[in-house]
Amino acid sequence: LTKSQELLDRRKNVVANGVGVFNTATVKHAKGAIITDADGNELIDFAGGIGVVNAGHCPEPVVDAIREQAGKYLHTSFNVVTYEPYIQLCEELAEILPHGEKTKVMLVSTGAEAVENAIKIARQATKKSAILCFTGAYHGRTMMAMTLTSKVSYKYDCGPFAPEVYRLPFPNFYRYSGTKTLDEFVDDELKRLHESALNLVDVTELAAIIIEPIQGEGGFNPAPQRYLEGLRSFCDEHGIMLIMDEVQSGFCRTGHWASWQHYGVQPDISTYAKSMGSGLPIAAVVGKADIMDAAASGSIGGTYIGSPICCVAASATIKYMKDINLNERAVEVGNIISTRLNNLKKDCPEIGDVRGIGAMIGIEFVKNGDPRQPNSEVCGPIVKGCAEHGLIVLSAGTYKNVLRILSPLVITNEQLNKGLTILENEIIKAIS
Ligand code: PMP
Repeated sequence: LTKSQELLDRRKNVVANGVGVFNTATVKHAKGAIITDADGNELIDFAGGIGVVNAGHCPEPVVDAIREQAGKYLHTSFNVVTYEPYIQLCEELAEILPHGEKTKVMLVSTGAEAVENAIKIARQATKKSAILCFTGAYHGRTMMAMTLTSKVSYKYDCGPFAPEVYRLPFPNFYRYSGTKTLDEFVDDELKRLHESALNLVDVTELAAIIIEPIQGEGGFNPAPQRYLEGLRSFCDEHGIMLIMDEVQSGFCRTGHWASWQHYGVQPDISTYAKSMGSGLPIAAVVGKADIMDAAASGSIGGTYIGSPICCVAASATIKYMKDINLNERAVEVGNIISTRLNNLKKDCPEIGDVRGIGAMIGIEFVKNGDPRQPNSEVCGPIVKGCAEHGLIVLSAGTYKNVLRILSPLVITNEQLNKGLTILENEIIKAIS
């Protein structure tokens, strides 16, 4: 029995089954883009802890900042005793993610918590309750976040869900455009949005629309530019808060701090987590100051909001990302990935689409080259085959027919190309 197998057996024996196993890899230590498993094997990491280590595993300045802070104080609760690391991180976030003329920030611990708080703030700011979300959306597993999440298999027997949540189809151009041009498709989807005021929910009751500009768990689906612009105007017209969930797409993944900066469409409120803290549980709700200030004192918060250890880890991550110009690197990494996968696609009709922005690249598998016939059978064997050959990779999508690459962006070209070769080999094996 290998040490990894032993660990997985112990896990099975004591950890609740509902805690899913997406990959059989184990870890003893990790650095950059490499995970060393319990048996000493080196694995190339294309999963990045589900998009958490854009700056790599254990970046030295981040580890140093954590160590230094640990020697000073671990916890006071920011509600009770004010500490500088929280304020400094908020200042840094307001600077790199400006929302209008003045930006304010709230820190929490997880992506789901950021979403929960964004909804509470939007409701208090508008004094309205209804929320509009999208098919294919993933916003977390707490009750409001889970209600907003689309995929049914995340929610079996977990209801009743939160009321006053409405859902529109996500404008998934690849899957649903059929013979329409992008312009025709977007026109129709915007028409659907405007009609929702007649046939889905009273628009005067709508507090917020929440969207991932590029869906993560839903399969790396980028919203069309003009659709996001249309959402912005719809929200402005009706006094609705536009919330963008950047938990997976933020912090350099798309070559920007947030993917909305790529689109040039500014939200009223946005949410961040994952790569912001290089692995420590830290998340943020960022928004226009007057909207953020609409939440009544004491109505948002919690014992562990913005733990000082996590705040210094996030500040050090942001500084490191700036120092090594990680946004630029994301574009290079994305180009290498999409060039190689698009080459492979030429010979593989089973690969329906290679898409994404910056280094947020997904590969969608379909049957008969038809976007409406997702192929759910290949990603499982590819993920398994890659794991056996030293590459950790994750699937995504409503039909589990998309492979997504969330490697650390500090990955070297050599490691990246080696990983892509393993991936390509496993794709070819799985489809032939
Ligand atoms: N929003 C998005 C877009 C996400 O991808 C995720 C996590 N996959 C979440 C929210 C929830 O974040 P967390 O798991 O930290 O609660």
